Amino acid sequence: MLDKILIANRGEIALRIQRACRELGIKTVAIYSTADSKQKHVLLADESVCIGPPESINSYLNMPAIISAAEVTDSMAIHPGYGFLAENGDFAEQVEESGYVFIGPQPETIKLMGNKISAKDAVKEVGISCIPGSATALDDDMESIYKLADEIGYPVLIKAASGGGGKGMRIAHTKGNLQHTIDLTRAESKAAFGDDTIFMEKLLEEPRHIEFQILADQHGNVICLGDRDCSMQRNHQKIIEEAPAPKIPKEQREEMFEKCVLFCKTIGYQSAGTLEFLYENNQFYFIEMNTRLQVEHPVTEMITGIDIVKEQLKIAMGLPLSIKQEDIIEKGHAIECRINAEDSKTFIPSPGTIELWHPPGGPGIRVDSHIYTGYEVPPYYDSLIAKVIAFANTRESAITRMGIALSEMIIEGIQTNRDLQTEIMQHNAFKNGGTDIHYLEKRLGL
Ligand code: ADP
Repeated sequence: MLDKILIANRGEIALRIQRACRELGIKTVAIYSTADSKQKHVLLADESVCIGPPESINSYLNMPAIISAAEVTDSMAIHPGYGFLAENGDFAEQVEESGYVFIGPQPETIKLMGNKISAKDAVKEVGISCIPGSATALDDDMESIYKLADEIGYPVLIKAASGGGGKGMRIAHTKGNLQHTIDLTRAESKAAFGDDTIFMEKLLEEPRHIEFQILADQHGNVICLGDRDCSMQRNHQKIIEEAPAPKIPKEQREEMFEKCVLFCKTIGYQSAGTLEFLYENNQFYFIEMNTRLQVEHPVTEMITGIDIVKEQLKIAMGLPLSIKQEDIIEKGHAIECRINAEDSKTFIPSPGTIELWHPPGGPGIRVDSHIYTGYEVPPYYDSLIAKVIAFANTRESAITRMGIALSEMIIEGIQTNRDLQTEIMQHNAFKNGGTDIHYLEKRLGL
């Protein structure tokens, strides 16, 4: 039993994890930066520790400060949430070496899947297809790189092996700008991820982003909780997610469930995880695995009735999964809109004080958010302030409910992307289902 858990995160996900802990009777410790002392989960936590100044590097990314906070509060485990240190294998290792349970997979699994090149190598072993590209990291031999790009066919994508959050990815349309694209991506990758390892992939022109949610316990049991479509993106970042993914043939989905489960069994995966794919011309191509809880996990929870965070906590306690693959019954359809504090058109962040917040509600509506009237959105972190999730028996009804929820939502004092989300709910292409990852940017003329 884990009696007390330190939540190494902030915002909506810290609150989400705290709620799951409270349901299981687990005490929570909140950590916070000086900019976050009035966060809802901090006020609700059994104990809280200030770990540093606002800048993430000195607070939510400060490993010694977080581990010291676990020590002084006598916590038993650390839940990293998503972002920050959630996919940092060294952090997971330090947590375990300091005698705490890391709520996630083993450090070596995080490291294996955290490098997109080694992750692709690993999934190929069980017959999962990857996007055509360089088998290894790119070196300095431009002649062989030009040759490879010719074989793959332009446009090609240069990607950071350690990339995340849609960063560290650039397109080369012709041989003429390949060298420059490589130099820029290397520099960006070094600065953002401390690693300048890059590789090449074919740029798929009209794919959808489809991913599969996994739960795996410490006893070799692995289940797949179905798929999600996260194709509505800007700057390679998701803004709308839904489950199940529309228009994927049943047999093909089931085949993917099996392959993902087989893969996780093969590498001895533990905890929650997501295998991400691009889907084009009826084919799935693996892009990466996220070895953590995803922002969009609620849509899967809504259609399966399974609380992914509670399962993650139980797995960390060494309990066997209580659900078998055949027990999972998908019901209805769920859509999530990410509400970001940003300008709807330029996507420029809009921090500031929320003068009035009235969340939407009614049948089938779930709102995961940490904000309240008077809350000050700090400028230092991700701009996500709320997730509105609409659930209904059919996709069409879920879209209708989402449209109503967005129109009900009152948020004053800062700018948000609510208008853009409302507009998308009215697009015929979205209503039909199956739009590709470039749809939104094309439509916005970006
Ligand atoms: P990150 O780790 O930064 O999230 P991913 O590899 O998961 O990066 O890719 C994020 C998004 O970038 C994908 O959902 C997709 O929209 C786009 N993308 C990645 N690889 C390709 C590719 N080869 N062709 C086209 N789009 C891609």
